[in-house]
Amino acid sequence: MSRTMLIAGNWKMNGTRPEAKAFLEKLRGLKPEARPGRELLICPPATLIGEMAHPLAQLGVSIGGQNCHPGVSGAFTGDISAGMLRDVGSSHVIVGHSERRAMHGETDQLVHAKARAARRHGLTPIICVGETLAEREAGHAETVVREQVRASVPDGIEGEALVLAYEPVWAIGTGRAATLDDISMMHHVIREALAGKSDGAECGLILYGGSVKPSNAADILALDLVGGALVGGASLDAGDFMAIADAA
Ligand code: PEP
Repeated sequence: MSRTMLIAGNWKMNGTRPEAKAFLEKLRGLKPEARPGRELLICPPATLIGEMAHPLAQLGVSIGGQNCHPGVSGAFTGDISAGMLRDVGSSHVIVGHSERRAMHGETDQLVHAKARAARRHGLTPIICVGETLAEREAGHAETVVREQVRASVPDGIEGEALVLAYEPVWAIGTGRAATLDDISMMHHVIREALAGKSDGAECGLILYGGSVKPSNAADILALDLVGGALVGGASLDAGDFMAIADAA
């Protein structure tokens, strides 16, 4: 099937200005603009978005946030709104990453509100879902992911305005990606869960995330329902990031 894949890099809490400069220099040499059929996206820490937006745009690479507040403005010390992300050049924002769900107590309801805020400001939310190892071992992986999709994805957002990322928690940063069968099965479950919502939403893309690297990207990205990858650790190296994009 020919489709535009999204290869998104999540830098998490990594990256200083000199590191961003070195990344951009290396990326420039790899000519990311010459990759038809792929949309490339980097989500650096918020401190680097304004600085990286223009050089990345010149290379045909989009930029996004890793999180946003559901509100517009106000007394929310330390938070950043979707409108602010848009203002500095973002096109996307990751919401509901498992690290935020686990370490900041983010619920499906909050993720839902953040995704709505993203849309209100013209950003495409990348809504993350995925089960923990304990949930998988207890045989609850499908049920957990179905419920996350039902409760985190707002009605009325669909098509290209909606990206989901299946990120099994146990695969993130562990070097142990999910099996191809498990990825296919869960992407199918997510499509079904979206279709079963009251508005029967269709999702533009469903990404896979969890220890994607140059050595496993081609097999994962060749799976029928996989629309791209959300890449953590490997996206910090421009060479690895482009090798993953080239595998798509
Ligand atoms: C992530 O943080 O979204 C992620 C998938 O990380 P990694 O690629 O390092 O497993």
